[in-house]
Amino acid sequence: MGATVFYKTTEEIEMIRESCLIVSKALGLVASMIKPGVTGLQIDKAAETLIRDLKAKPGFKGYQGFPGTLCISVNDGVVHGIPNDKEFQDGDVVSVDCGSYLNGFFGDSAYTFALGDVAPEVIKLMEVTQESLYKGIECAKVGGRIGDIGYAIQQYAEKEHRYGVVRELVGHGIGRDLHEAPEVPNYGRRGQGQKIMDGLVIAIEPMVNLGTKSVRQSKDGWTIITADKSPSAHYEHTIAIGKTGAEMLSTHKFIEEAIKNNPEVKEISRKK
Ligand code: MG
Ligand code: MG
Repeated sequence: MGATVFYKTTEEIEMIRESCLIVSKALGLVASMIKPGVTGLQIDKAAETLIRDLKAKPGFKGYQGFPGTLCISVNDGVVHGIPNDKEFQDGDVVSVDCGSYLNGFFGDSAYTFALGDVAPEVIKLMEVTQESLYKGIECAKVGGRIGDIGYAIQQYAEKEHRYGVVRELVGHGIGRDLHEAPEVPNYGRRGQGQKIMDGLVIAIEPMVNLGTKSVRQSKDGWTIITADKSPSAHYEHTIAIGKTGAEMLSTHKFIEEAIKNNPEVKEISRKK
């Protein structure tokens, strides 16, 4: 990630929005398919086909050698899990991260799915993590600082709910590159960090663990897992900051609609 922040023009933001729409649709397709008995490779293939049918390219495939279209991280998997042929089990929590590349611009979004009979404490973790994302988005405004976003997320997830907010992985600027400056940590201090200005496009993506905030890399060289094997949740949106506030370029509405018709995925309630 370079240090230069590339502020986007209105036209560039429209291109990122188009790329994000494809990501959002791919995650909607995932939401309609995912259930116990299905494999990560199956949803990965379906997402890739949809992305290519929409004339885009998978944003993650080949990125630093990553083999999948989706990052699929199950239970104690935090992020960067590689799609495999293992069937999802009843009770799994599955974080699915998707990127696309269209007309020179990336889009990026993630969602965590609860399959079947998931423990209430894990559902609560998911709800709080999702809510922390929206709290972070609310703080992304012109005149503020990047630290305001992390502060809001950390305050809610860690201080209020005593979960572990992952430090090693962070949100990021996004545009012509998948990961651009600035880094957007999910922790921080109000009033600190990069100034937020008109045209900033960032991906905010809290990763929150039921137990310790500590993580480690698994032997596959990609998957990040919690150090204490506790479950983890991850939600992400790409947003653009304009004079009137933050605008979400990705959406989870396709996911939420699909979950309503997929009895094997639990609905995660959202305050707003
Ligand atoms: Mg992502
Ligand atoms: Mg991201």
